[in-house]
This record gives sequence, C-alpha cells and structure tokens, in this order.
Amino acid sequence: LMGYVGFANLPNQVHRKSIRKGFQFTCMVVGESGLGKSTLINTLFNTTLYPARPSPDPAVERPKTVAIESISADIEESTVRLRLTVVDTPGFGDFVNNDESWKPIVENIEARFDAYLEQENRVNRQKMVDNRVHACLYFIQPTGHALKQIDIEFMRRLHTKVNLIPIIAKADTLTDEEVQNFKRRVLADIEHHNIRIFQAPVYENEDEETLAEHEAITTKIPFAVVGSNSELELEDGRVIRGRSYPWGVVEVDNEEHCDFVKLRQMLIRTHMEELREHTNNVLYENYRSDKLLGMGV
Ligand code: GDP
Ligand code: MG
Repeated sequence: LMGYVGFANLPNQVHRKSIRKGFQFTCMVVGESGLGKSTLINTLFNTTLYPARPSPDPAVERPKTVAIESISADIEESTVRLRLTVVDTPGFGDFVNNDESWKPIVENIEARFDAYLEQENRVNRQKMVDNRVHACLYFIQPTGHALKQIDIEFMRRLHTKVNLIPIIAKADTLTDEEVQNFKRRVLADIEHHNIRIFQAPVYENEDEETLAEHEAITTKIPFAVVGSNSELELEDGRVIRGRSYPWGVVEVDNEEHCDFVKLRQMLIRTHMEELREHTNNVLYENYRSDKLLGMGV
C-alpha cells in the first residue's frame, strides 16, 4: 500500500491522452537548506530519489552559487507511465549575501523554456520532450511570524515563470493554532506583494463531489507539511510514516496531523493536468511571445 502513489486514478477525461502517451512531470523544490525538501520529495514519491546525505560540514568552504540538480525516475502504476523529474536547488539562501539567490533558478526555468521552443521550431516535432518546470514547491521556514525578504523576493521574481505552490515546512514544529495563524499571515503577505500563486481553474460544469474535493485541497494552501522516510510501528500495531516525539507521533499520512495528503493529491491526482496546461498555455506562452517580440519577430 505504501508504494502506491495514485496517479493511475487520474479522474478527468482530459487526462486520458496523457495517460496513453505516458507523461512527463517536472517539479522543482526551492527553499533554504534544512527545511526538509529532500525528505518531502522522497515522502511524496515513495522512493529514495535522494539518498540521505550527511549534513554539510560548516568548516568546509561553501559553494558560491545555487546548484541545480535534477533527478528523474520512471514510475509505473497500473500500466500508466509517469516520467517524474525533481529539480532540487541546494544552496538557495545559504550565502552571506542572498540577494540574487533567485537568479540561477530563473535562468534554469528559462533554459527549459528555450529547449522546448527550439523543439517547436524543428521540422520534425514528433518526439517533443517536455522538461519545463510544471510546479515549484516553495518551502517557507516555520517561524510562525511572517514571510522573510528572501521568500518575497523569490516569489516576486518567479511567479510569472512557474506555478508557485507555497509550503510551510516542518509543520510539526508548530502547534495547530500557530499553523493556522501563520497560514493567514503568509497569505496576507503574498497578497500584499501581489504575488500570484497557483490557482486552479474552477470549471462550471464540474460535479459537486469534484468541486468539494478541489476546495478541500485549495483551501489548505499554503500546505503545512511534515516529511519523513521512516516507518514507525504504533502501539495499536499500525505501521505509519511519521516522526516520533516524547509527547507522541506525528503521522505524515494523517490529515488531522498535516496537509501532506492534500499536497500529494493536488500534485499527482487532481491538478497535475492543470499545472501542465497552465505552464504551457500561460507561463510558457508569455515567455515565448516576449522573446519573439524582443527579437523583433
Ligand atoms: P533539505 O536541506 O531542505 O533538503 O532538508 P532535508 O530533507 O535534508 O532535511 C533536513 C533535516 O530536517 C533532516 O534531519 C530531516 O530528517 C529533518 N526533517 C525533514 N523533514 C522534516 C519535517 O517535516 N519535520 C521535522 N521536524 N524535521 C524534518
Ligand atoms: Mg536537500
């Protein structure tokens, strides 16, 4: 059961085409070191895309730029093939001066647009490879206060290039009440700075059940998540993924404990196609037309 991700059950008809062809989905993770990005990706896809690495030795000189690392895995479920790529951005926010931490990330996203544009311009467009970033999970430190300058700067620079999905990292370090207050504050900051985070379109003729499911997901944004790759056996015999504390266990897959399940549903089940479509029809299209205008075409 735990190896099961759920994309084989994509609900809408629009997904059928992608399902036949097998599909490509690229998810980027950004946020300061130690916020649990690698852990969450492993938790999401139930793989160890990221082998555990020892924490960097502060005595060793730090790299001077943000590294962009991309890992792909082919996941197959009930004959549905998904080529999943995760783009990690270690180093973000780790420098003495982080004013331009966003820059290599924008460049990477644009380079992926360029690679797609080049394929579109080819005569033979049979085998298009789509390496564009379809979603960017932005990890917010669970301070309980407000967004930091680096968060605002990153999101302001990126929101026209990628579907931003804000996440409150390590939500187990806050109480439920702190999480709710922090979420309100984060959303207020986002609005105040005119940052556009990903918003799923609402279709008129959707059935009530689907609408309710979508609302249950989107009202959780920014998702307060807990990641863990360890399985724990509880006293009642259940084996769960979670984090153990003297006062109890936080279960990753328990919706009473965190929003992990909702985030996964959104990415892999309910909104994958929307994320891909918005990337193609709006974000990429804007980039493409700006570029052509700039070239005087
Ligand atoms: P990254 O630098 O953002 O990739 O962070 P890692 O995934 O390497 O995690 C950094 C540390 O935080 C590790 O010791 C993880 O075990 C721990 N960690 C990861 N996710 C969580 C979480 O949700 N809650 C708590 N409390 N710790 C976490
Ligand atoms: Mg990492």
